[in-house]
Amino acid sequence: MLESLRSIVQEVNSAPDLETALTVTVRRIREVMGTEVASIFLVDRISGRYVFMATEGLNRASVGKVSLAPDEGLVAQVGQRSEPLNLEDAVSHPSFHLLPEIGEERYHAFLGVPIIHHRRVLGVLVVQQQARRRFDENEEAFLVTLSAQLAGAIAHAEATGAIQDLGTGDEGPHWHDAKFDGVAGAPGVAIGTAVVLGPPALLDAVPDRQCNDIMVELLLFERAIEAVRTEIRDLGAKLSDSLGPEERALFDAYLHMLDDNAIAGEVNRLIRDGHWAQGALRRVINEHLTHFELLEDSYLRERANDVKGLGERVLAHLQDVSRRKSYFPDNTILVGEDVTPTVMSEVPAEKLAGIVSMKGSSNSHMAILARGMGLPAVMGAVDLPANFLDNHELVVDGFNGEVHVNPSPRLRQHYQSLIETEHEFADKLDELRDLPCVTPDGHLMPLWVNTGLDLDIPHALERGAEGVGLFRTEIPFMSKERFPTEEEQRVLYRRHLEAFWPRPVNMRTLDIGGDKILSYFPMQEDNPFLGWRGIRVTLDHPEIFVVQVRAMIKAGAGLEGSLRIMLPLITTISEVEESMALVYRCFDEIVEEGLDVQRPRVGVMIEVPAAVYQAKQIAERTDFLAVGSNDLTQYMLAVDRNNPQVANLYQELHPSVLCALRDIALAAGTVGKHVSICGELAGNPMGAVLLMAMGYDVLSMNSTNLTRVKWVIRNTPFERAKALLEAVLVMDTPDAIKKFMRDELVGAGLGRAVIPEPGAVA
Ligand code: PEP
Ligand code: MG
Repeated sequence: MLESLRSIVQEVNSAPDLETALTVTVRRIREVMGTEVASIFLVDRISGRYVFMATEGLNRASVGKVSLAPDEGLVAQVGQRSEPLNLEDAVSHPSFHLLPEIGEERYHAFLGVPIIHHRRVLGVLVVQQQARRRFDENEEAFLVTLSAQLAGAIAHAEATGAIQDLGTGDEGPHWHDAKFDGVAGAPGVAIGTAVVLGPPALLDAVPDRQCNDIMVELLLFERAIEAVRTEIRDLGAKLSDSLGPEERALFDAYLHMLDDNAIAGEVNRLIRDGHWAQGALRRVINEHLTHFELLEDSYLRERANDVKGLGERVLAHLQDVSRRKSYFPDNTILVGEDVTPTVMSEVPAEKLAGIVSMKGSSNSHMAILARGMGLPAVMGAVDLPANFLDNHELVVDGFNGEVHVNPSPRLRQHYQSLIETEHEFADKLDELRDLPCVTPDGHLMPLWVNTGLDLDIPHALERGAEGVGLFRTEIPFMSKERFPTEEEQRVLYRRHLEAFWPRPVNMRTLDIGGDKILSYFPMQEDNPFLGWRGIRVTLDHPEIFVVQVRAMIKAGAGLEGSLRIMLPLITTISEVEESMALVYRCFDEIVEEGLDVQRPRVGVMIEVPAAVYQAKQIAERTDFLAVGSNDLTQYMLAVDRNNPQVANLYQELHPSVLCALRDIALAAGTVGKHVSICGELAGNPMGAVLLMAMGYDVLSMNSTNLTRVKWVIRNTPFERAKALLEAVLVMDTPDAIKKFMRDELVGAGLGRAVIPEPGAVA
């Protein structure tokens, strides 16, 4: 059974389009369960009707043509109740609704199972038989298991099909505004044309594209094949002495695979049908891979890798010739499986409007760079059918981590006006840059920025930052091929400190682990966010820590009061004591070496629930506290901050999170220590008002949000903020808090500053 499940799911996953996915599903269900009928109904997103989409056993001519209303028949009942319905005699059931066109009246036994993805009913799987009998428990359990596994694949294929079918005039169900969730990578909204680029020679990253000139594509492909043949022959000849007869035979086998009556012939056929060579190659290789992967024999299954390797070799040659796209439309939205800064550099800066990557998170280098450049970005859009998106219109909602494909005029209009409002608002906000951040009743609320790239420095200064609340030093480490030397680091830190002088700069010691991995320091863990992260890594590697701290202290020479060293992911007092001892040892050594440097202030990041309850003891031992609310939220709520699957559970305005944040501020206050916050919440106008009321001394944020927050604070009396906090702290749910704060800001005429919510569009 498990083997059948595995192979069905695999086959559906690799189906090139929705129709094939559905056809494969019903064919295989009927085969495996031995039923007379297997059918699929899918919900039309617009009308809510259950459309007859695939069948084995009923009338195929009705596929796509007949449907049931949202409350009509047994199928709708399965969907509405979100549970299986198993009947001995469907025809006599009061809810039975005959669809005469499909010819189901002969079938009595009926088992319907809902297909549900992320709480949304996508459709219903139905099996039927003439005999009057109940399907047994095993059959029901099999169909439920299969449906749960297929839901993701069908959701994916549905979206893919939705995009491909658009404009074909088909009468079948129509899905517009296909929406894909990811994580917010960089704020802002962009509307533009998708250009899909992948790293070179990565078959799965090749998009579908129509070919402009069939003869040219055929020729390009022939040359690529010839080049690979030559490579294989040369390699075979070079290794002939050291190879046994079996391995030599393998080289011959590779050459055969490239023959006209194998891969090459199939690719040529697809090119003649209008596909460009790279896309045709990807399709053919993937089809072969599916066949191999379905084989029981593990040796033969392994041969799939050979086919893939060959495909990639051919692709490398094809890409060398046509190399990359040379034309980029205005408002290019760069889309890819893994968009990296290198891939991005292929697009001329003036054409680039936004970024969508299937991999990565808000901490990825790409997201950080996008924030620095002010480019809206969505990361981790795992379900995105990137290969089919080339040339399609996209909306990138970098506020909420959403991508909309082929937006309807209404949706586009909504986002267009949002972009315009944001632009106008940004111009108005620019006027605030030199004004102090002070409430109407005179409470000063210093706003600092989070930095990491050199690029962040001018942006932060342009927006009037009063200091740096978080310099993520791991970012410059990410673009190196080895740990930077003490002197390299000193120069880098000096540049940062001097640029902001005389403003203070919180330099965080290396915070790697989790999803921040250095290519030259690999880590493999089952649970990286609960593993070797932040201070845990650097305390285990004092040689790395000491070099960094020495570089920081030396960089601060002569810049009185500027350098503040900050320790990430502290969980225990002993970590605080050990790290501080190392910092002061570094300081003493540098003084002994004869340099004139100041003793740095040292602070601790509160990012772990354990540290919340020891905030007072930690504050007593250090110079300041800085709250990392991104990590604190993820650890308090047990929600991975980068996992789109649970993104709706990541609530930074959760009542428990707010209570913890208030307690940290109180703890720091009781021992008279400075406390700042540098998570995303500080850059959210609703959060900023509440944090000010809690008594935070500094709010540190992306420079993009700085003037927006300043505007809200300059228009919110401190006494009012305190009253709002008091009201919020007795509320039970994040939704109630969000609604209350939103209404309050809107009521105070500050609605423009509220970052738009997902689903804000009807
Ligand atoms: C945080 O966790 O809130 C924080 C500011 O640090 P980072 O986002 O770099 O983990
Ligand atoms: Mg953190």
